[in-house]
Amino acid sequence: MLKSNSNSSSSSDLPLMISPLTSAPIELFSVVRSKPHLQMSFDRNCNADLQNRFWTLFNYAASFTNYAYTYLTKANCDSHYVTYFGQYQSSARWSLATRNFLNIKTNLDRQLFSITCEQNCNQYVVAFVYPNDRTHLIHLCPWLYQQDLNFQGATFVHELSHYDDIAATRDHVYGDAQAIQLARNFPDKALNNAENHGFFARARPTC
Ligand SMILES: [Zn+2]
Repeated sequence: MLKSNSNSSSSSDLPLMISPLTSAPIELFSVVRSKPHLQMSFDRNCNADLQNRFWTLFNYAASFTNYAYTYLTKANCDSHYVTYFGQYQSSARWSLATRNFLNIKTNLDRQLFSITCEQNCNQYVVAFVYPNDRTHLIHLCPWLYQQDLNFQGATFVHELSHYDDIAATRDHVYGDAQAIQLARNFPDKALNNAENHGFFARARPTC
């Protein structure tokens, strides 16, 4: 899911607030921001029950991602790849899918994200992130935990894939059938669609 980032400052509006003489500290500031300290944490709204539920869905997401990445590194069968990322047209496309899942796997393995437990999300919103947030703060909504665990795990893969420094995916379509149709008709968009990553992994593909 995506949500506009209207309530947080972006680096582009900073120069309007300072004189040219103070540009050096801003440069320093941007350097610091480019290497955020990522350490797994929950915000205070994540009670013990929500934390337990999170670790369960995390294990599903990690399992899905391991299957997906292993599948893509073997490259000796491709029907599942074709279903979610379209016809094999070039090694560059396969390499992009592989790199995306390597980045997702690395961020899962090293837990390079934090969790905030939202209490009031729009109806049917299960989770959201800001793609340019280099601290990887993932917003999880109560509705997520009403879904089955396969959906929860796939959602976490979906959200991680959104980050610009992970796979930079967007939401072109939602839903499994729509993701498959996107792969058939617009394979390049499928490679840039978060749902296609989530559903590709959810099936625990094997060769
Ligand atoms: Zn999304």
